[in-house]
Amino acid sequence: MLKTGLSLLKMMDDYKGKSYLIGGFVRDYLLGRNSNDIDIATSLTPKELKNLFPDLDCSFEEYGAVSVTIKNVRFEITSFRKEHDYKDYRKPVQLEYVKTLEEDVLRRDFTINAIAMDKDENIIDLLDGKRDLENKVIRTIGDSKIRFREDALRMLRAIRFSVTLGFRLDDDVEQAIIELKDLLKELSYERKRQELDKMFTCPNAKEGIEMLLHLGLDEPLELRNLKNVDTFDDLLGIWAILDVCDIYPFSAHEKKQIQKLQEVFLKNPLDSLVLYDYGLYLCSIAASRKGFSKEEVTLKYVQLPINKRKDIHISVDEIVYCKNLVDKSKIKEVYRTLEEEILKGNLENEQDKIISYLKS
Ligand code: ATP
Ligand code: MG
Repeated sequence: MLKTGLSLLKMMDDYKGKSYLIGGFVRDYLLGRNSNDIDIATSLTPKELKNLFPDLDCSFEEYGAVSVTIKNVRFEITSFRKEHDYKDYRKPVQLEYVKTLEEDVLRRDFTINAIAMDKDENIIDLLDGKRDLENKVIRTIGDSKIRFREDALRMLRAIRFSVTLGFRLDDDVEQAIIELKDLLKELSYERKRQELDKMFTCPNAKEGIEMLLHLGLDEPLELRNLKNVDTFDDLLGIWAILDVCDIYPFSAHEKKQIQKLQEVFLKNPLDSLVLYDYGLYLCSIAASRKGFSKEEVTLKYVQLPINKRKDIHISVDEIVYCKNLVDKSKIKEVYRTLEEEILKGNLENEQDKIISYLKS
């Protein structure tokens, strides 16, 4: 990934100006962590970027940012800029393109996100980001309160970085969050969910939830059941406990899974019929909540005599024949009885046994 990034920088520098890797990639590289994508800050203007990458769909042009994918690495390239007049505690209304990295880094959120690397792998650390990386601390660039009032999402980003990286919040950052947390209500649920998802899926999810509670963010984030969250190894499990499908955005599939999970939470996930009806995935989440191990549930699941209706050794025609069914709508009912009897161990899944059961 680094090699691809450096060769893109070289190509850009050969064209004109000066470009740098910056943000999450450099931060994670210095920490020895993997990154998903690479941010590049460049002195090239959006017009020059368009000349350099003529094939790009430049709908992004007016924002001075383009996405490029090279060798499966996604790059977010932004022209050096200042941002002015934030609106709705989130979006700058005005962009001003500037000439230098020195000016560009000042609009970034945290010192650890403002470390740059040039094409020769020189680190350009204008705001002491490396010191904060070493001390494992999240510090805003400039006054925390001012920066969070400009863009309230930065509060959630601060917590997310603190949780995923295992860093502490600088005192100023923590104080500002406590004071300004109500501004989180102004943000879209979509952006909030993105940050929360990242927090909930990292290995420190438990600490993340404790931190949200400690800072009193459950109220402004409308996470009414945050105190009850007790499973940390599954994202859907956490959202099911939080029970906020009416507020936060979820896909139809996610909503269905969450609803089913909420049902399994009220049942015994090791029960054969429950395992059969809800499946291994949902039951594992519910089981871990009740203190059972994954192995216990999996073993129970693989020992089920049937996993789906098709596993029952009888055909629809045989059912109709044995039961003398005129009304075919009854077939479902018969199947359900067979499932229950087989899963409870009252009936063996063998054709002749099932036939004589049906006839009796
Ligand atoms: P990751 O990609 O791991 O989530 P990242 O730090 O790369 O972390 P991005 O959202 O990709 O985060 O943003 C890239 C860079 O843009 C950041 O490192 C930061 O310098 C800047 N940035 C992103 N969001 C903001 C913001 N809300 N306010 C100020 N600067 C920001
Ligand atoms: Mg990034």
